[in-house]
Amino acid sequence: MAEEIADRFNSVLEKIETSAIRSGRNLDQIQLVVVTKGQSSEKIEQVMNEGARILGENYPEETHKKILELGPARKNVEWHMIGHLQSRKIKFVVEDFSMIHSIDRAEIALDLSSKLEQSGKKIPALIEVNLSGEESKHGFSAWNEANWPALVDEIEKIRELIGLKVTGLMTMPPFAEKAEDSRSIFKKCFRLIEFYQKKTGNSAFNQLSMGTSLDFEVAVEEGATYIRVGEAIMGNRNYLK
Ligand SMILES: *Cc1c(COP(=O)(O)O)cnc(C)c1O
Repeated sequence: MAEEIADRFNSVLEKIETSAIRSGRNLDQIQLVVVTKGQSSEKIEQVMNEGARILGENYPEETHKKILELGPARKNVEWHMIGHLQSRKIKFVVEDFSMIHSIDRAEIALDLSSKLEQSGKKIPALIEVNLSGEESKHGFSAWNEANWPALVDEIEKIRELIGLKVTGLMTMPPFAEKAEDSRSIFKKCFRLIEFYQKKTGNSAFNQLSMGTSLDFEVAVEEGATYIRVGEAIMGNRNYLK
């Protein structure tokens, strides 16, 4: 099992590099988030040994349990929250996570920020946008470009919150059969961040979290700065929480 994880991890790294070269991107600007939801602490330890530095998780209580199981080894990695956050789970995020990719509504930004501030913390955060209009997707509505100016204003309000350092956008395309199906959504996300930068003059808002096991190579080509890869590295998840 350890060998399989090592092989898959290295194969993903190679594909990231190939895609970056193909599209003239700088590898330093692309961070791999290894998504470990539904994976055992043993497998997490293996991928950490291979050199994974950022782990992505969706369920804060599950993460908390794993962190306790991992003991001191957990210090070698950063944990990023990538899933829909319920208000009652905020305290786990404050304790365990060093970044959140999934600010999907104004209230959670407000509540999380205030709890972080109380703990003397400030963490990087991305605004999750729904670019497809699919109802099952979380995130701020952004499929209709006529709403982009209002969205920019909303993001500017969130940027005033003390506990969060808002650095860019995250998106999850609709379920796709093949990688190419996601390209138009990734392009749209890139256009949205350009729109934001132009309207505000804030070019430090420049992080794009997009691409999963299926389509991370396309995401790299379209400007992703974080890609979130789970099963292509870790193997099948067990969906029991
Ligand atoms: C689970 C998950 C991923 C990883 O998906 P894989 O198909 O395992 O690569 C990425 N992003 C989010 C938001 C997820 O929930």
